[in-house]
Amino acid sequence: MNQLSDTFGRTHNYLRISLTEKCNLRCTYCMPEEGIPLKPKAHFMTSDEVVGIAKEFVALGTDKIRLTGGEPLLRKDFSEILYQLAQLPVELTLTTNGVLLDRFMEELVAAGVKSINISLDTLIPERFKTITRRSDFDRVQKNIELAQKNEIRVKINVVLMRGVNDDEIIPFIRQTLSSDVEIRFIEFMPFEGNNWEWEKKISEKEILQTVFNHFGSENIQPQNIAPNATAREYKIKGAKGKFGIISTVTHPFCDTCNRIRLTADGKVKNCLFSSQETDLLSAYRNKELITPLIIQNIMQKEHSRGGLDMSKPELVQLHENRSMITIGG
Ligand code: SAM
Ligand code: SF4
Repeated sequence: MNQLSDTFGRTHNYLRISLTEKCNLRCTYCMPEEGIPLKPKAHFMTSDEVVGIAKEFVALGTDKIRLTGGEPLLRKDFSEILYQLAQLPVELTLTTNGVLLDRFMEELVAAGVKSINISLDTLIPERFKTITRRSDFDRVQKNIELAQKNEIRVKINVVLMRGVNDDEIIPFIRQTLSSDVEIRFIEFMPFEGNNWEWEKKISEKEILQTVFNHFGSENIQPQNIAPNATAREYKIKGAKGKFGIISTVTHPFCDTCNRIRLTADGKVKNCLFSSQETDLLSAYRNKELITPLIIQNIMQKEHSRGGLDMSKPELVQLHENRSMITIGG
């Protein structure tokens, strides 16, 4: 039985584990310009600790685990963690920038991973360099194809930003016409050090208007909303794939949220925007029980976006929070 309910009756069965704060890209919307201070290795969970803490969550009712980061594939012991977590009774999945996917494809297939989220914010190589400050566009493209060849379902995460890539909504959706891929447009969210401004995000409403204008509203088919979904999904009539919109800023899915996060330094975080963190790693190292800490953290979960009001631009007052790269998306 799942023991991870909060005061709003939401059950938490989906754990997102960040494996590292390091990354091989430098996405402007995620990584603060000045970088993030490097911490000693001892501050982060070892592979045994990741698996040990994950087992406690599974005992409480977690049945889905997503590995994220920073870039999870940068962990030298990624294969070991993947192998160990694959032994647990969970759906195991991954969010990655895709650069190193080719190195791990066989192991991911062997671990039973059926679906991967890959972040790619542009289809234009030069623009990829500007957004990520790195030149790995071709490798990411090839790795998306490689995952599909290996029958792994691919969802492509696209953070839309005004004046940066908002002219690529239609080119991305065109990819769904002939490929069984899901494009997920994410509203640009505010985090420590990412120069977010209200006007820079492209809202769900704007995205849909662009799509309606181009394809005609009669050709857009809304898909059923899965329980605990984070994206509203649509299909262009006759398309093989689909597209979705993750509208965390203008139209969030908090009512049915089932997610809980474990940061690479072993803190449990009940919402992307929450400033409440509970240190599980220290307790685990001291051989203390961590289940009461997990339950207590979930009971403190706010109804929506960690208590942040994003209904109007003037109300968005970020409270103390980490940068996205240290949370894990
Ligand atoms: N490195 C991996 C990747 O890029 O997929 C995993 C970690 S990344 C922090 C997880 C997700 O968060 C990515 O899809 C990324 O696009 C998204 N993300 C990062 N910063 C964001 C922001 N400010 N607003 C919206 N999404 C963001
Ligand atoms: Fe790295 Fe992913 Fe953040 Fe880009 S979005 S800097 S790839 S962690």
